[in-house]
Amino acid sequence: SVPAAILSALSAAARGGVLFKGGAALEGLAEVRTYAFDKTGTLTTGEAAVTGLHALDGGEAEFLALIAGLEAHSEHPIAAAILREAARRGVTPARISDMRSFPSEGITGWDAGGPLWAGNARMLARVGAAMPPDFQAMETGAETLVLMGRGARVLGAVTVADEPRATSAPALAALKASGAEILMMTGDRRPVAERIGMGLGLAAGEIHAALLPADKVKLVNEAAARGRVAFIGDGVNDAAALARADVGVAMGVAGSEVALQAADVALMAEDLRKLAAAQALARRTARIIR
Ligand code: ADP
Ligand code: MG
Repeated sequence: SVPAAILSALSAAARGGVLFKGGAALEGLAEVRTYAFDKTGTLTTGEAAVTGLHALDGGEAEFLALIAGLEAHSEHPIAAAILREAARRGVTPARISDMRSFPSEGITGWDAGGPLWAGNARMLARVGAAMPPDFQAMETGAETLVLMGRGARVLGAVTVADEPRATSAPALAALKASGAEILMMTGDRRPVAERIGMGLGLAAGEIHAALLPADKVKLVNEAAARGRVAFIGDGVNDAAALARADVGVAMGVAGSEVALQAADVALMAEDLRKLAAAQALARRTARIIR
């Protein structure tokens, strides 16, 4: 039977907005050595914003309608930012069919005029398009550049920026003070990753950028050689890493269904201080039952 100390810790955690999928998850969290965090939507707010819009030919509204039409089918925070920008400008997203999502790359689809795509340099390579000179400098900047095009032609791009949640830095500091190792893992480019990570007090070596979902799993495996690993994410492009970690932590009730299924722990609020509090509770409980 489950020790009373564990049952009472599980219910205390639940009252505080942290749901453990059972006593083993609580005991697992007490022994975590490495906390690996997804960036977008986890360390940063899910509310990224469009900071610039660059249509190469044709009107801005037409361009925005197409990219919003593509992103209407994505659950990525980038997509939400683009849809909010369209709404703000009173632009109705174009109707796009046959959507396909490419994790850490972007999205493709069709309209009456043919195939369309939106995404990063990886997507550009997939469709055989070249980076327009106008966008080369932006591509190395500290904001995320989302390109959109039809076939091998680039129609334009938007820049999107996300910001750390105010609760992320104190949460990372508390976990570090407990002796844990912290890693940030993101599919975003390094300059963007460093702007966020260093703002949160992380060192360059703790920041891993330009990762595909499989790279996140590989890094979790490497960390697992040093001790138990927790992965904290929203399930968008990181469900495999969440499932591979000794303790998968899904953040936010708004988090995807996939994340909740793959997770051992769910944070009901988008506040990583809840994770630090849960770790402290898990460690206290482990000391009691030992
Ligand atoms: P993170 O690991 O930080 O959550 P992702 O792996 O989800 O980042 O995404 C990495 C990159 O892939 C994004 O920065 C973006 O360039 C591109 N990308 C992913 N999804 C989309 C999308 N729906 N539309 C456009 N670009 C996308
Ligand atoms: Mg993500």
